[in-house]
Amino acid sequence: LRFEDFPLSWRTLEGLKDNDYTKPTEIQRDTIAYSLTGSDVVGAAKTGSGKTLALVIPVLEALWRAKWSPDYGLGALIISPTRELALQTFSTINAVGAHHGFSCGLVIGGSDVAFERNRISGINIIVCTPGRLLQHMDENAQMSCDSLQVLVLDEADRMLDMGFSKQLNSIINNLPAERQTLLFSATQTRNVKDLCRVCTNDPVFVSV
Ligand code: AMP
Repeated sequence: LRFEDFPLSWRTLEGLKDNDYTKPTEIQRDTIAYSLTGSDVVGAAKTGSGKTLALVIPVLEALWRAKWSPDYGLGALIISPTRELALQTFSTINAVGAHHGFSCGLVIGGSDVAFERNRISGINIIVCTPGRLLQHMDENAQMSCDSLQVLVLDEADRMLDMGFSKQLNSIINNLPAERQTLLFSATQTRNVKDLCRVCTNDPVFVSV
């Protein structure tokens, strides 16, 4: 099976080709087909299994299918436990999504909030860590998530271990209910299951 066998946009296929991605890994093969139907997906996958692409491809395709225009504002939100992971996801979006023309912003702190606010205003895809995003939602009246199509929670178990449960719930409460949610977690603990119940709707469970 190759990426071309999935019903992907030519823009994504070109981006994959540019980066020498030809065959999906197991987690990619098993989650992408479901994600493309618009269904919520809960994936059990470890770091190193290729889950970054397993979430980046569906995000790009969801916006593509929604005929997302750069001036439509926020379409996708990807929440990661750490700045390092957020950075990795951000660079994969820029690399594989290069032919789409969506704007992508990183919200991980480390720079002035006001400066960051200007930088993310009107951006199409935000990759963030929970605490910093919530700070923007609380302080930034211009930050609207009303147009959001896709929410991704990456390494959900790790975020809960780090004590981000309250922040995640506050963020989710601020998002439109009509959206697609993809959640990845290496382990399926009780806390992860509780989070799934709060943020997903009749998800497909995939474990590799
Ligand atoms: P990840 O688990 O997303 O951190 O990915 C682990 C490593 O596998 C990264 O270096 C990716 O570039 C690489 N990788 C992910 N998917 C593929 C693929 N389909 N083909 C080749 N390499 C991949």
